[in-house]
Amino acid sequence: MVKPFVPQLVYVEPNALTYPLGKKLITNFEDMGIEIRETTSHNQVRNLPGDNHFQRYRVAKSTLVVGLRKTLKFDTSKPSAEYAIPFATGCMGHCHYCYLQTTMGSKPYIRTYVNVDEIFEAAEQYMDERAPETTRFEASCTSDIVGVDHLTHTLKRAIEYFGESEYGQLRFVTKFAHVDHLLDAKHNGRTRFRFSINDDYIIKYFEPGTSRLNERIEAAVKVAEAGYPLGFIVAPIYLHDGWKQGYHEMFEKLEAALSTKAKKDLTFEMIQHRFTKPAKRVIQENYPMTKLELDESKRKWKWGRYGIGKYVYMDEEQEDMKDTLGGYIHKYFPESNIEYFT
Ligand code: SF4
Repeated sequence: MVKPFVPQLVYVEPNALTYPLGKKLITNFEDMGIEIRETTSHNQVRNLPGDNHFQRYRVAKSTLVVGLRKTLKFDTSKPSAEYAIPFATGCMGHCHYCYLQTTMGSKPYIRTYVNVDEIFEAAEQYMDERAPETTRFEASCTSDIVGVDHLTHTLKRAIEYFGESEYGQLRFVTKFAHVDHLLDAKHNGRTRFRFSINDDYIIKYFEPGTSRLNERIEAAVKVAEAGYPLGFIVAPIYLHDGWKQGYHEMFEKLEAALSTKAKKDLTFEMIQHRFTKPAKRVIQENYPMTKLELDESKRKWKWGRYGIGKYVYMDEEQEDMKDTLGGYIHKYFPESNIEYFT
């Protein structure tokens, strides 16, 4: 069982201490006996302990920077929402295929932003621009926000903030089961709480440092009981020997655990495994023993964002995934909605 995250090392930007959350976090970390270093900016975070890249990467993944979000211009976040709302960056998990490995490059430490009210103000402007259309905000584009939230409670505030909003909705996804502090948040049904799930084989070999499938399912049951709209992202869908059986068991477990009520308002998103050439290099550097199959010749090349091509599964394999997993979903969750396959 993965314990709730506690940083090994904390950096603080001086400005962060002028915000109540910054002050509170640092006091808590001091009380916990964690080493705290000052830094003028997260870019100055250097000299992490470790003799080589491999060790420093692991230290960085358990280092937390308490700072401010400077850019208050939000990225778009298709297909699941209109905008990405930035409360944190980075993640303590060690999923071999994590998208953050390439987007965060040489700075894999975790950052939490304490100027939460300013982030809400920016969100308000985005909502005003689109009103009376609903604006959906995705809170997990740059981190697994739930994984760090038991320390900050920023997500909890965001859930309550959007709970009171007229035109805003919040979404996020997690691979962590540490959700207890979020259960009593006044969400008013305006937050869709999603869990990223995969079969046991994939979680075991490729998702170290995250909660196991059973733990995620138990957490999802609690979240549904707390009245949240619930969703699951099956990602990345990865073909391995026995994948049909593995995914079948996953959906069977889910079906057995969820209540009839929870099954009524349920969404599924399906994302196949993909990689880019730069991602492959980073994965092989950070996880040299990985069993992850990254053979370009077995994949189909597809244009990606910023002109970097990505390798997805062949057309027939994609059809097989869609039919097989889509079939399980229709069988076990006939009232659910499959939002997309990509
Ligand atoms: Fe990346 Fe999500 Fe795994 Fe964290 S839990 S390492 S964000 S894939």
